[in-house]
Amino acid sequence: MAEILPADKAMDRALALLGAGEVVAIPTETVYGLAGDAMNGEAVARIFEAKGRPRFNPLIAHVCDMAMAERIGVFDPLSRRLAEKFWPGPLTLVLPLREGAGIHPLTTAGLATIALRMPRGFGGELIARLGRPLAAPSANASGRISPTSAAAVAASLGGRIKLVVDGGAAPVGVESTIVKAEEGGLRLLRPGGIAAEEIEAAAGVKLLRGAAGVQAAVQAPGMLASHYAPQAAMRLHVGEVRPGEALLAFGPNRVPGWQQAVMMRNLSQSGDLREAAANLFAFLHELDSSGAATIAAEPVPMEGLGEAINDRLSRAAAPRDNGGGDA
Ligand code: AMP
Ligand code: MG
Repeated sequence: MAEILPADKAMDRALALLGAGEVVAIPTETVYGLAGDAMNGEAVARIFEAKGRPRFNPLIAHVCDMAMAERIGVFDPLSRRLAEKFWPGPLTLVLPLREGAGIHPLTTAGLATIALRMPRGFGGELIARLGRPLAAPSANASGRISPTSAAAVAASLGGRIKLVVDGGAAPVGVESTIVKAEEGGLRLLRPGGIAAEEIEAAAGVKLLRGAAGVQAAVQAPGMLASHYAPQAAMRLHVGEVRPGEALLAFGPNRVPGWQQAVMMRNLSQSGDLREAAANLFAFLHELDSSGAATIAAEPVPMEGLGEAINDRLSRAAAPRDNGGGDA
């Protein structure tokens, strides 16, 4: 079972675990978060693994100050004004991801944008001490409600993680409000801990709502950023490689014809699903840039993180012109 330490005694232990690429449940003002180093793919893979999430959705990267935020996201004037007004606090801003920011693609699910938030209290201090941003979705098993106490985290994830930091009841108790500045306005992607009216008052504009909301934006294959959905066609669970194909391999054994692949990347030579998850977005991108018309993917087992990997592969293989739909 996870160790539960009060926040005033947990800092060193949390830093040691996070520095080693492990995950730690931490209190924030919204809900408890399951935190991992947002720059370390295996740490982010562990977040999905511990939650048992069947898909890789983009996570919020948590920062400790504006300097760290500016190293990661490209701020427009309106987003900067909202950050000045509401940070630290329960507001998440979606911004263009700065090139070379070092955020692992599993954190953004391969998107060219990044969701950023600056939490209050223990989380902010932890990030400052670590000197690195933390990815941190709610610290509950997938499909369960978000935890607002250390006991709720331990009940849901206690058997799968090493440390829960107890900061008492989460004061806001709901997730952050997510907004994104876009051409001609500011879009509400998810309602949350800061009321839309408060944001509108600070921004001086009405929030856009509706169709292009967060689910549509990140889940509809037709709307995805280019390195989220490859240009190449995808063939899944292949039994052989055909001429002209690039190969996304998995494990120690190759399918027949692998020698003729125009490029090959192995998600994990040893068959480790966590390593495979950490490599997935970068390798799809590299194989796509080979110019091959088709990427052939060897079978990946449907256990543990394999479910999310297969979900992502089938989205990449889905027809591109269907206008979306959460296949
Ligand atoms: P959670 O961390 O579980 O509170 O959820 C994070 C939310 O932020 C999810 O609804 C994501 O879909 C959303 N999100 C994260 N990154 C982005 C992004 N780059 N663009 C749009 N939405 C995002
Ligand atoms: Mg959640």
